[in-house]
Amino acid sequence: MIVSNKTPRQEFVFQSRTEKCPASGNSHGPLVTDSIRGEILCASCGSVLADKVEDLGPEQRSFTMEDYAQNSRTGLASTLSIHDKGLSTVIGNADRDASGNSISSYMKYTFSRLRTWDSRSKANSSERNLRSAFVIMESAQSKLEISDAVIERAAYLYRKALTKNIIRGRTISGMILSALYVACRESNVPRTLQEIAEAGNVSFKDLSRHYRVLVKSLELQVESFNPLEFVSKIGTMVGFSEKAKRDALDILSKAHGRGLTDGKNPVSLAATAVFMSGIINEEKATQKDIAKASGVSSVTIRNVARILRKQLGM
Ligand SMILES: [Zn+2]
Repeated sequence: MIVSNKTPRQEFVFQSRTEKCPASGNSHGPLVTDSIRGEILCASCGSVLADKVEDLGPEQRSFTMEDYAQNSRTGLASTLSIHDKGLSTVIGNADRDASGNSISSYMKYTFSRLRTWDSRSKANSSERNLRSAFVIMESAQSKLEISDAVIERAAYLYRKALTKNIIRGRTISGMILSALYVACRESNVPRTLQEIAEAGNVSFKDLSRHYRVLVKSLELQVESFNPLEFVSKIGTMVGFSEKAKRDALDILSKAHGRGLTDGKNPVSLAATAVFMSGIINEEKATQKDIAKASGVSSVTIRNVARILRKQLGM
């Protein structure tokens, strides 16, 4: 989780750590908490900024190793922690361990054993890097409701980037969130760079920069989003009739023909066309439903709708 408010105790710890972050060149941050190991990590470079933090309040304790274990069943933890022999050996077993115990009790045992390790001496920078990346992506996943398959792909891209050493001089959060964005694009999951930046607590500018680096270094061919694909997807998600979906496509085609779609976010355009068609066809889905399905805010939908209505004379 991203720590936004430091407790007085943490403040004290941070005061003694005033050196610059090697990844960002500024002070360390944003911060993520690994509450089981009692460590606060820098999401940019993976440095441990505070350890033996025992008095985290409940509001700061959203990430635990049990969550880690649960997520591992979807593959994320195993993918990200591939370099960590201790973890990946355990996590590699699907639902049961060798003796047939369910994974939850087995994990409990394993992670309680992990807890007793001297994490500072065992943890190398690569492991800390992956741990920070995991926490950041886990947080973004829950905020943006992204499927495990997309997360898995993002973890793969991130690990590939790590092996290419292009992470050097870049922030962990910037790289993992870029990987997440690429995975969304590849899977046609309508999430914008802006939304991912907000969910990950990084600036849009910073994320764009990292995104370009990732695409170039991994020689990725990222197709641009086609708004037409999103229209049917969003329409289906909110239970529109085929007629309403066709009308939404018509609105989008008209807007495109008049050059109104240039430079606009394709997902916002698709969501707006669906919204406008819904009104025409008296569909039950509300603006809020469409916002939720598309990941585009109601405010954006209203603003784009105002422009399209005016320009198309509707
Ligand atoms: Zn740092």
